[in-house]
Amino acid sequence: MPPSLAISVVTCMDSRIDVFTLFGMHLGEAHVLRNAGGVVTDDVIRSLTISQRQLHTRDILIVQHTGCGLTTFTDDEFTEQLAAETGMRPAWRTHAIADPAISVRRDIARLRHDPFLRSDTRVRGYILDIGSFTLEEIE
Ligand SMILES: [Zn+2]
Repeated sequence: MPPSLAISVVTCMDSRIDVFTLFGMHLGEAHVLRNAGGVVTDDVIRSLTISQRQLHTRDILIVQHTGCGLTTFTDDEFTEQLAAETGMRPAWRTHAIADPAISVRRDIARLRHDPFLRSDTRVRGYILDIGSFTLEEIE
């Protein structure tokens, strides 16, 4: 079923984020893609491309947030700990970040230059203040 607002939201899996309340949306209005950090990965791009090409969405909102778990460790720390415990490193990266604004800017740029997304895609990125539940748009 095509989302009636033709919007996809990429955001963090953080249990405090209610995406529909945040944007005043209702069920059926948007696709919501969530992962640790709300970062744009290859799999997020896969879903966004299917969302656009098969279910007629266009606009993409990226929402990362203050107090994110991904700011509490580094990629190297996490990976080395995993390797010490399991004897191997994962093929994936954690996308751990020090500053969510830097991460949002990178993800906006990646989506704006992706060859498979619609050429008229509008991408906007935000940092959600998890305390006040307010959004700051990132340019
Ligand atoms: Zn988070």
